[in-house]
Amino acid sequence: MIQFTDVNKMYKERAALKNINLHINEGVCFGLIGPNGAGKSTLMKILCNILGDYKGNVSVSGKLLESGNSEIKRKIGYVPQDLVLEEKLTGLDNLAFFGRIYGLKGKALKDRIDEVLQKVGLLDRKKDAVSSYSGGMKRRLNIACALLHEPDIIIMDEPTVGVDPQSRNHIFDIINELKNNGKTVMYSSHYMEEVESLCDDIALIDQGEIVESGSIRELLVKYSKPSIFVQGIGVEKDDLNAFGSVIKVKDGYKIDTPEPLQKLEQIADLFLTKDVQIERLEITRPSLEDIFLSLTGSSLRD
Ligand code: ADP
Repeated sequence: MIQFTDVNKMYKERAALKNINLHINEGVCFGLIGPNGAGKSTLMKILCNILGDYKGNVSVSGKLLESGNSEIKRKIGYVPQDLVLEEKLTGLDNLAFFGRIYGLKGKALKDRIDEVLQKVGLLDRKKDAVSSYSGGMKRRLNIACALLHEPDIIIMDEPTVGVDPQSRNHIFDIINELKNNGKTVMYSSHYMEEVESLCDDIALIDQGEIVESGSIRELLVKYSKPSIFVQGIGVEKDDLNAFGSVIKVKDGYKIDTPEPLQKLEQIADLFLTKDVQIERLEITRPSLEDIFLSLTGSSLRD
């Protein structure tokens, strides 16, 4: 549904995006994962027509974004990372302002405002000034603004940064509901756990480049090689070298081996004959976060 082809973006001399080729299928929740400064916002702003000065092509449903097609603009709802709200106005008046930009008016506008307020759980606060909302409530209103014109594609740039757990869960519910209603959601984050629970497909981005992309399941199968984790008093690296490639990790040792079950049994047999106190002996697989680290050498958070 969305295709980026050879997209490059410079900010003066700095390359923010380098040769991005990415496909996003219709009706999926797509997670764009990368650390701060990786290029997530830049990629999203290009798709939302906010940044124009780039090289390459972006198409939505087969139509080039560069053609200035207003039909594409109407298809997209953008939730920027920075709040776009007028604090002195009520939630209702903020939404009315955005609704009019999209050509909504009269009863249709009023009804739609109530629908989106209901969706984001702010119906009972609609007559209060935004300045009296909590940070999480402002984020939810920010989302509501992008949903007013019933877009097919919703782009959310780090929508949960700095929000309280209750609003965070509410935002997850909104995303899941959009997905269940057949919408395509593109969502950026540097919280891997969030993306794992919400998204079907992901792209890992680092220093302006797509490092990997695909379905979460595919990536886990591709990279998630099993290892054994051993932790205990008296456990020495020398005892473990015979079972595979041994790495010292926090609190213990990780042994990479293609035969984890057999090796686990052999390690257990060995330690039964030795004077050691085993605390943990188990088969583990790397998480998506570990995979990101191994592909980029950098972690997602500072
Ligand atoms: P992310 O959303 O992943 O945090 P961004 O897309 O905001 O990353 O930024 C990518 C790179 O482009 C960073 O190095 C950032 O400093 C730079 N950048 C972003 N916006 C601008 C701008 N308006 N002017 C100059 N450099 C920018």
